[in-house]
Amino acid sequence: METALKWLFLDLNSYFASVEQQFNPRLRGKPVAVVPMLTDNTCAIAASYQAKAFGVKTGTLVRDARKMCPGIQFIEANHDLYIEYHHKIIEAVESCIPITSVMSVDEMICELRGSERTLERATEIAELIKKTLRKKVGEVLTCSIGLAPNRYLAKIAADMKKPDGLTAIFQHELPARLHSLPLRDFTGIGEQIEKRLRQAGVYNSEILCSLSKEAMRQVWGSIQGEHFYQWIRGIDTDQSHGENKSISHSHVLPPEFRTREGASIIAQKLMHKAAYRLRKAKLWCRSLSVHVLFVGDYSFENGMKMMETQDNFSFLDALQKLWSELPKRDEQGGLLDRPIKVSIWLTDLVPEQEHNLSFFENEKGLKVSQKLDEINARFGKGSLYFGGVSDAKEAAPNRIAFTAIPDLDAE
Ligand SMILES: [Mg+2]
Repeated sequence: METALKWLFLDLNSYFASVEQQFNPRLRGKPVAVVPMLTDNTCAIAASYQAKAFGVKTGTLVRDARKMCPGIQFIEANHDLYIEYHHKIIEAVESCIPITSVMSVDEMICELRGSERTLERATEIAELIKKTLRKKVGEVLTCSIGLAPNRYLAKIAADMKKPDGLTAIFQHELPARLHSLPLRDFTGIGEQIEKRLRQAGVYNSEILCSLSKEAMRQVWGSIQGEHFYQWIRGIDTDQSHGENKSISHSHVLPPEFRTREGASIIAQKLMHKAAYRLRKAKLWCRSLSVHVLFVGDYSFENGMKMMETQDNFSFLDALQKLWSELPKRDEQGGLLDRPIKVSIWLTDLVPEQEHNLSFFENEKGLKVSQKLDEINARFGKGSLYFGGVSDAKEAAPNRIAFTAIPDLDAE
């Protein structure tokens, strides 16, 4: 029995372009490039497979794309639409298997457990995910799935076949299975590292895979090289962090804040404080939960998975979503208008080097960072109306100046 397939990595193919084609059937089967704005002086942030066939890819200038692929259509990026589909995709995947972490707007990873670690079961799950995405999200949306003994190789496996791939890398095939990959196909080998590898006489993957741990550490100039040594051998370094690591803050509300709006303001303040501690500890967060206790002992708890994040806007956006589900009445119909305590938990924390695994300095990493920047820009905009976190109806009269919020640092 093969027992080494511990992770399933899922990457949506040409995500932004596919969403556009899903949303607008007239674009299906056609060369399409998604651009930040409709001008010649920008570049594609995504290209449909029909455009990729002409060599157009992420980063291709609009005027070059037009020459390479006459008739290509440019679509201005619609981030709200991509986020909407992102949530639908998460829901669809979670109906098949729990998601361990969302790496970016179009990438997520799931830990396989027990019998799921066999090729047979893992393949069934992968096929079920593909079928569920087609059925519940859209027939145009395809994904590439990778199965492997660790997170790193699962991502490499997913990259091996696009679009609509399903690839497994087994422990016993390592590292020979990786010998045919160009150096730059390894996540974590960008321009700089490639240059240093070549200087060290490493001009193909076979030589790369034969390097000692010490030699890798030297090329990378950091512990990252040692991680790389372990990852390409199928060693799962993921046990080093776990669900047990968390950052939490709670606060008993002073009497003047015992309203739904008051509680939401305190929750935001706690959120800022927790996010600050997270960044200081060089950790990234994958799950947020909030807890509100009301007079009469009613307690509300809500949580969600999120893209690995450190930034306030993403947290505030997530908090807003969780808060929007705060019920107005308890099971007996009593009004829930007297909260007395609020707590925030950041859980499923990832050390910086694990986070970097998906975002390190290569073309793919850059692409992901660009996407993140775009999403952050959107969250930034969203934060402008964040003042109205609590239910609009109640929010009206007693606005409290932010500066009047009690100092929570004493805790
Ligand atoms: Mg993708």
